[in-house]
Amino acid sequence: MIHPLVIGNWKLNGNLHFISTMVSILRQSIGSIQNCKVVIAPPMIYLGQVKQAIYNSAIELCAQNVDLHISGAFTGEVSSNMLKDIGAKYVIIGHSERRLWHAETDYVIARKFYILKKEGLIPVLCIGETELEHQEGRTKEACARQIDVILSLQGAEAFNGVVIAYEPIWAIGTGKSAHPDKVQEVHEFIRTYIAQKDAKKDSFVTIQYGGSVTSKNIMGLCAQPDIDGVLVGSACLNPESFIDIIRLAVKQKSSKMF
Ligand code: PEP
Repeated sequence: MIHPLVIGNWKLNGNLHFISTMVSILRQSIGSIQNCKVVIAPPMIYLGQVKQAIYNSAIELCAQNVDLHISGAFTGEVSSNMLKDIGAKYVIIGHSERRLWHAETDYVIARKFYILKKEGLIPVLCIGETELEHQEGRTKEACARQIDVILSLQGAEAFNGVVIAYEPIWAIGTGKSAHPDKVQEVHEFIRTYIAQKDAKKDSFVTIQYGGSVTSKNIMGLCAQPDIDGVLVGSACLNPESFIDIIRLAVKQKSSKMF
């Protein structure tokens, strides 16, 4: 059976009250879940609080960002070893909101990828096309371009054990989710693209989809063989809808023998 990976990205939302309510509801219903990897990504300042709240449960911790440097005069930044120290397992990098609002380039993201791998943390590398690239049929080209910098600097083997989140930018926070058949096509392309450059051909990459995932479209997405899970934004801020997404993802993946 395939265990889906469901990550809830809280973005710039939440406070201490939200954490205690959200985590206690999650703990009650999916706190000991075995057939799904459930991960939450709170804002940086609450990582420690959330780590305590999820203690002894199956829920795991993800950070939303990391700095390029390990230590030194970099005011306001958080390093990979600090994230490891606090108990994070996954770290989101390359999210389109950081590419847009914080001018992060593919090269910067490749450095973050390298630093996380070195520290033993799992990068959740977000890639995806703009609305224009989508309209012009350049989705695969855009995804390949974002992967290429890492491939050329670190090789295909560096992708082993990593999570890639395919997130079409036009689908994020818009309510316009990409069609599952189209997502499948892109995921298959990404997997093959990396595998072709992997000399040993034994790397395993988890590929999630993100972009307006809800309890209404999760079954269609998880019916696809190359969609290994989902990265959820808006819908993860409501515990009931996040739990529905997790349960439906498990139901769909457990009924499939890919
Ligand atoms: C995201 O920001 O990664 C995301 C997928 O958001 P949403 O689910 O709101 O589209």
